[in-house]
Amino acid sequence: MVKEAERLQKLPPYLFARIEKKIAEAKAQGIDIISLGIGDPDSPTPKYIIEKLKETAEDAVNHQYPSSVGMLSFREAVADYYNKRFKVSLDAKTEVVTLIGSKEGIAHISWCYLNPGDVSLVPDPGYPVYGIGSLLAGAEPYIMPLKAENGFLPDLTAIPEEVAHKAKIMFINYPNNPTGAVADEQFYLDVIAFAKKYDILVCHDAAYQDLAFDGYKPPSFLEFPGAKEVGIEFGSCSKPYNMTGWRIGWAAGRPEVIEALGRLKSNVDSGAFQAVQYAGTVALSGPQDIIEEMSQLYAERRDIVVDGLNAMGWTLEKPKATIYVWAPVPKGYDSISFAEEVFEKTGVVVTPGNGYGDNGEGYFRVALTVSSERIEEAFTRMKETLGKFEF
Ligand code: PLP
Repeated sequence: MVKEAERLQKLPPYLFARIEKKIAEAKAQGIDIISLGIGDPDSPTPKYIIEKLKETAEDAVNHQYPSSVGMLSFREAVADYYNKRFKVSLDAKTEVVTLIGSKEGIAHISWCYLNPGDVSLVPDPGYPVYGIGSLLAGAEPYIMPLKAENGFLPDLTAIPEEVAHKAKIMFINYPNNPTGAVADEQFYLDVIAFAKKYDILVCHDAAYQDLAFDGYKPPSFLEFPGAKEVGIEFGSCSKPYNMTGWRIGWAAGRPEVIEALGRLKSNVDSGAFQAVQYAGTVALSGPQDIIEEMSQLYAERRDIVVDGLNAMGWTLEKPKATIYVWAPVPKGYDSISFAEEVFEKTGVVVTPGNGYGDNGEGYFRVALTVSSERIEEAFTRMKETLGKFEF
């Protein structure tokens, strides 16, 4: 058998594949598993979005290759969304590209800008694709630790001068997966100043910018002065509209970067199915009640999780956004041993924090993607079986 390329061998095993295997084994034994592991919304895509897909899938025009950079109508819907939601003005033709889910663009952007040996700045813990995209491009991710004492924001002043000079891309992500942290204006201004000083492309991943609670409205990176000169923002229909399976997202911002990403895409994929882009257009420009509905639903679940953990000895504050609760493991455990103890004794799946990088060690993540009733059931089991913890 032909040997795999080194770039593939360099990749860490996909964390969720391991978890899925464990769940499958337990399910085969008839155990009732409650998975708070994976950040995949459990609610269906709204009907009017599905109807649009059905209608446009019937039209033979949509059966042919789409434009690799996306339909102008979808990109205009993204530009309108930015205008309405953030008062950010974007030229749909040059400043927006359609993606087959934001993960696709996040992985591909490294190919556009990183040569072998180049450096990318990658948050840790973080969504694994930032570092993986960099590795696939032959580059070296430099870890920016996200620490509780800094509100899970990277400390830009801790990045050594020579690393900053070598770095070509910085990935950031707020509201943040896995920590649930949010970023304020000053953080974005600091990032923009840093990027200008060292000539770095900022890639802000905003997959959760519409899932926020208690009246909080996360800003867009592109709102801040100078952002469009130094970077782009990745967005997605996946989480706010329950469309993870549809694969539709975008990148928006600096035109040369959008053009480069589009050029790469024209060579490796041929764009998103047009019927899915029509559906995405309806998602972005149709009624937005779903956003409020989903935010309320996740807020309710978040409260059950945080109150449940706090009743068992934690002292957590409630996250303001995302579909995750990030919590430290109790005394005497590491991330894996705690997740295993919870799974083996209660059948509840939580994700060990080290799956998101070395700096996630000592934490675990709870995803708010099962019903409130099932979350209640998970906590009843945990309280009865595991009792109280010390920290
Ligand atoms: N960015 C973050 C932080 C995520 O957590 C995810 C999905 O879990 C994505 C991006 C990818 O979303 P998409 O479905 O748009 O590819």
